[in-house]
Amino acid sequence: MTRSSSRLSRPNGKHDPNAQRIFELGEYISLPASSQSGIVVAPCEIGQGLFAFRNFSLGETIFWFSGKVIDYDEINARDPSLAGHPLQVDWNRYIDVDPPGYFVNHSCDPNTGLRDNLRLVALKPIKVGDEIRFDYSTETGGQRWTMNCRCGSNKCRGVIGDFDLLAPTLQRELLRLEIVQPYIVRRLIEKCRTDEH
Ligand SMILES: [Zn+2]
Repeated sequence: MTRSSSRLSRPNGKHDPNAQRIFELGEYISLPASSQSGIVVAPCEIGQGLFAFRNFSLGETIFWFSGKVIDYDEINARDPSLAGHPLQVDWNRYIDVDPPGYFVNHSCDPNTGLRDNLRLVALKPIKVGDEIRFDYSTETGGQRWTMNCRCGSNKCRGVIGDFDLLAPTLQRELLRLEIVQPYIVRRLIEKCRTDEH
């Protein structure tokens, strides 16, 4: 991906209110009804995945994640074989993701990224039939979570984990693309300010 082609513009320059959102435990996060056209759940080589049902252009919103806000204790209490991958939105807050977001797999070289906590946007042009994936490390932090990766890309890291454990060059690239969850970015900004004093 070239520097110029990876730049994403915010629609109309407006700030998404979800960027600053506080996630209350037990709250249900609903999504715009219009946000699920153009995607379909289908089998893939690692089970099921989310696929494009139409073409998406660079920067276009694919869909919003929705689901109930839960904490780490609730995730831990579950049968791991039944639990999907919850979407982390704060240090101890996760979205127990509804379908179709439930089926989005990870890639170490993804074609989409998270914006403003809940919105998945295209990082490159996506064609009909492409599997939609994002980098789970852009939303995980604080629990030393790891997962073996079989994404098959030539950039595969083998084991994926929290954002702060990524190589600094990759962290910078993901931050530049603005696809790192706001709670992680806020902590980094606080740390920079503290280090300056
Ligand atoms: Zn991988």
